[in-house]
Amino acid sequence: MRQSQLFTKTRKEAPADEVAKNAQLLTRAGYVHKEMAGVYSFLPLGLRVLKKIEQVIREEMDKIGNEVLLPALSSADVWKQTGRFDTVDVLMRTVGANELSLAKSDASYVLNSTHEEIITPIAQESNGSYKDLPVAYYQIQTKFRNEARAKSGLLRGREFRMKDLYSFHRDENDLKEYYNNAKLSYQEVFKRLGLGEDTFITLASGGDFTTDFSHEFQTICEAGEDLIYLDRKNKIAYNKEVVTPENAEKLGVDFDSLEQVKACEVGNIFPLNTKFSKAFDYTYTDESGAQQPVFMGCYGIGPSRLMGVIVEKFADEAGLVWPEAIAPFQIHLLSLAGDNAEVAKEAEEIYKELVASGADVLFDDRDVRAGEKFADSDLIGIPKRFIVSEKSLAQGMVEVKERATGKVTMVSITDLRDSI
Ligand code: ATP
Ligand code: MG
Repeated sequence: MRQSQLFTKTRKEAPADEVAKNAQLLTRAGYVHKEMAGVYSFLPLGLRVLKKIEQVIREEMDKIGNEVLLPALSSADVWKQTGRFDTVDVLMRTVGANELSLAKSDASYVLNSTHEEIITPIAQESNGSYKDLPVAYYQIQTKFRNEARAKSGLLRGREFRMKDLYSFHRDENDLKEYYNNAKLSYQEVFKRLGLGEDTFITLASGGDFTTDFSHEFQTICEAGEDLIYLDRKNKIAYNKEVVTPENAEKLGVDFDSLEQVKACEVGNIFPLNTKFSKAFDYTYTDESGAQQPVFMGCYGIGPSRLMGVIVEKFADEAGLVWPEAIAPFQIHLLSLAGDNAEVAKEAEEIYKELVASGADVLFDDRDVRAGEKFADSDLIGIPKRFIVSEKSLAQGMVEVKERATGKVTMVSITDLRDSI
């Protein structure tokens, strides 16, 4: 893609109302645009990163479930059926905005904050026999939550992206087996996103689903809103919310001896057991023809929050730093041609060859000063920068700089062409 065609521009200053580092940098670099607190548009660069994060998640989830797309909007009835219409403290409702709209229909709807209420009846319709189970569905979709504080940029949206997976089982044992396998899939996702080392399975409250614990995936991050008690040796952590004398005894853990660190919850998996199947009267027929309750699990990951966490963790003074797996482009090609037509032509040719070879390149073909190109390139944070200038061209070279390490190497244009 040509930078001259990107419809966004970088900016030197972050908007005054953005306090979170991820929002400041992503806005300055032209990845996102704030619509209002907790609600962002994803611009071309930002959308590329988000899609890549979601693709990594999708590839791992395809191994353990079937992708679906559930509606963002639903009737209030299904939420009333589980009793959660009145109890989910972030649930949002929507109605016609004006008289004209209300005259057409005065119905009100729920903007889904999670999808147990939607998926359970769907699973029930098609999976009524022991032969149909286990089965698992997942989606990657937009969620709505009436969050109290939305000052953390992508870390806490009122509208945000979530991958949510739901699994249905014959009994608790089968659920447990699947649940443990899902943990491994989650670890693979975080590893591929470059967060493996710093992301820990964390025992947390089971919410109103289970008296058991749920498992969060917490990434160590200064900007995170959670405090975890970390046992590095055993690679397990405890959310502060479960650090009680009773749990110390139940788990045989001396919480006081553990390291306390700030972290951000990037994923959360719950054994739902029979909470939702009971609400929808979802049973299956076993081998003997008897009706049995279906056991469920749910498994969430936040792709847009992950994008924010990755910015918080890897960015430096000069700007964003993307891991290769999710960078918007792999190569940032800078043409420092100035008035030199020869350099401009060579850069143009290298760009075309890179594109033809299938490389992911952003080409800074703009007519701006070199200093501005360098600063923008640092801010945008693409892993590799190729610089074609009068000086490098005179030596038949291209300068290659790694964004993360700052390491510079000179590569001959012939070698570069061979490697394309
Ligand atoms: P938190 O405790 O941070 O409010 P949660 O426990 O309510 O999150 P879950 O219902 O477990 O969130 O949602 C699954 C995943 O979706 C979370 O692990 C997180 O990655 C992501 N997520 C949840 N709320 C938000 C939000 N407001 N903005 C962005 N991502 C979110
Ligand atoms: Mg959670």
